[in-house]
Amino acid sequence: MKKLSFIGIGGSTNIELGGNCCYLKEEDNLLVIDMCEGATEKLEKASAFKDIKNIYVAITHTHFDHVAGLGVFIWYCNFNLNISPKIIYSDFKYVHTLKKLLKLTGVDKKLVKFVRESSFKINDLKLNMQRTTHTPKLQCFGIMFQDKLGKYYYTGDTNDINYIKELCEDKNIKTIYTEIATETYNAHIKYDDIINLEKEKLILMHFDTVELYKKAIRDGFKVARIEGSEANE
Ligand SMILES: [Zn+2]
Ligand SMILES: [Zn+2]
Repeated sequence: MKKLSFIGIGGSTNIELGGNCCYLKEEDNLLVIDMCEGATEKLEKASAFKDIKNIYVAITHTHFDHVAGLGVFIWYCNFNLNISPKIIYSDFKYVHTLKKLLKLTGVDKKLVKFVRESSFKINDLKLNMQRTTHTPKLQCFGIMFQDKLGKYYYTGDTNDINYIKELCEDKNIKTIYTEIATETYNAHIKYDDIINLEKEKLILMHFDTVELYKKAIRDGFKVARIEGSEANE
């Protein structure tokens, strides 16, 4: 799997690093994971839409920093690109939540398709949206990708440190994109809890503060790279 390209790597209040949101582009296929505020403009600036004919969207959960840009994105894809995005799901209750969100914000249901995760396929890459724990009232999903070379996990927002540890030990897992925060706040992965894990597989993202982002780099972690920036990885 190619590296994911990020347009933002910050937590909900981290304006400097922007809302955590990324994409994968293969030939004329685009997958966007989560939809931060201003996502459409940032994706356009990163040339993510260039030569694209098919668009998938994976929304890990409905916290505002992950869905604020969804409506504008759907409108833009339909009216400017003439493409109806396909939202990937693994859970019917969650589809209902997303449909309710779109209805409340005035996005016509005809402008978007909901497709099962099994219908996602970019070359030999498949994905699986797995339930994870984050905050008590929201459903939240991590994404397991798989291709012929191995598996790659994207945590979404999570507080499940044990699963991260398990994946670090798993030889089939090539890369783990993990959210990180200064404290767990009962919702996130605390930096101190991963400091001694194998750094090779981990790519950190969704930093609650710029200080933590800088510390992670100083400590030798790979961090998700915002397109067009000079930051590493
Ligand atoms: Zn978040
Ligand atoms: Zn969240």
